[in-house]
Amino acid sequence: MIDQVLGLRCVICGAVYAPDEVDYVCPKHGNEGILDVIYDYDLIRARTDKTALGEERSMWRYRPLLPIEPDAAVPPLQVGWTPLYRASRTEARLGIRRVHVKDDGREATASFKDRASALALVKAAEGSAEVVTTASTGNAAAALAGVAASVGQQTVIFVPASAPEAKIAQLLVYGATVLTVEGTYDEAFELCLEAADEYGWYNRNTAYNPYMTEGKKTAAYEIAEQLDWQVPDVVLVSVGDGCIIGGVHKGFRDLHAIGWIDRIPRLIGVQAAGSAYLAEAWRNGEDVLEKPPIEAHTVADSISAGLPRDRVKAMAAVVETDGAFVVVTDEEILEAVTQQARETGVFGEPAGAAAFAGLTKAAVEGLIDPSESVVVVNTGNGLKDVASAVKAADLAGSRPTQIPPTMSAVRAAMGDGT
Ligand SMILES: *Cc1c(COP(=O)(O)O)cnc(C)c1O
Ligand SMILES: [Zn+2]
Repeated sequence: MIDQVLGLRCVICGAVYAPDEVDYVCPKHGNEGILDVIYDYDLIRARTDKTALGEERSMWRYRPLLPIEPDAAVPPLQVGWTPLYRASRTEARLGIRRVHVKDDGREATASFKDRASALALVKAAEGSAEVVTTASTGNAAAALAGVAASVGQQTVIFVPASAPEAKIAQLLVYGATVLTVEGTYDEAFELCLEAADEYGWYNRNTAYNPYMTEGKKTAAYEIAEQLDWQVPDVVLVSVGDGCIIGGVHKGFRDLHAIGWIDRIPRLIGVQAAGSAYLAEAWRNGEDVLEKPPIEAHTVADSISAGLPRDRVKAMAAVVETDGAFVVVTDEEILEAVTQQARETGVFGEPAGAAAFAGLTKAAVEGLIDPSESVVVVNTGNGLKDVASAVKAADLAGSRPTQIPPTMSAVRAAMGDGT
């Protein structure tokens, strides 16, 4: 019995449903009526303690705080418990007391999305789904395909035909049925919903399936635990649909509610200048349920979203934590790809390094005090998008020197004239 879950609450009207009463969204609000899983925190507190989390080195160490059966089978691929690295050279450059990078490029399929997909597969198995489907700009699909492969689950994936090659290759390698949609991510998303409805597939779509936030929240648990439950002052996350930042917020809210941490960090959402819907809405005080979609273009494909699907949760994450949104240009993002790699050893895809670019921007804008501690989340591995990585290196002036196989050529290349 999943008795730690009290219900699912619509983010728009606040109506609460029993988990088996609705499929995915609030019936009164359609696709906009995203549900938030609400918990019996007294029960969780009585059942478990932060000193009793056990030896499991994955997101499943937090089982009592997840919406699954206590003995549910979980996929064998390691998801979660990614490293948190101190970035001392970044601290020195920015004059900030403490900076850590949480490297979710180290997930099984190389992005943060594994956390949500792993939970989706447990929920799909609860209902004995034959097929699990999602639409994705790439990483959510790769995550679903990879984790599904580890349990032999069949998947059908909708991606925009423009998704980077490496991400589509991942899907094919894992054996997913792949439909590359001639259109935008938004069109792929709508098509996926219709197809899931018609065929009765289990739907993993971000900001539609209420449990995706619950998988993503485990990153916040890990950040807190890896810092010995002394939460940082600020956490920076790149934002496209807004599900990750909403999930990180949920994770800290859970821990605060059960008394494992004494405060909730300020959350700073980082958006690309060409896809800054939420940053604009935040700055102008616009209602995200009224604001029309924008035309999104950015090198950071994973955070390109004309109408962020999880915008209500994302806005709440920033507003309720007294955080902020910052905007970074594509050039700043590409600069951050090399800067993050060189200062920390963490190689991110553009959307991953965007948060690191956002840290520099936030420091310059005075959003972080020198005395504070900060965690930056790198959400995706740099090898996801090799073309952008090559561009980033080029922008940093790094090019290989081609030489004949002789020592004199080596000496010449080293600037040694002899
Ligand atoms: C999906 C993704 C994001 C953004 O997450 P949202 O929930 O869409 O805001 C950021 N970085 C990477 C690498 C991603 O795959
Ligand atoms: Zn509703």
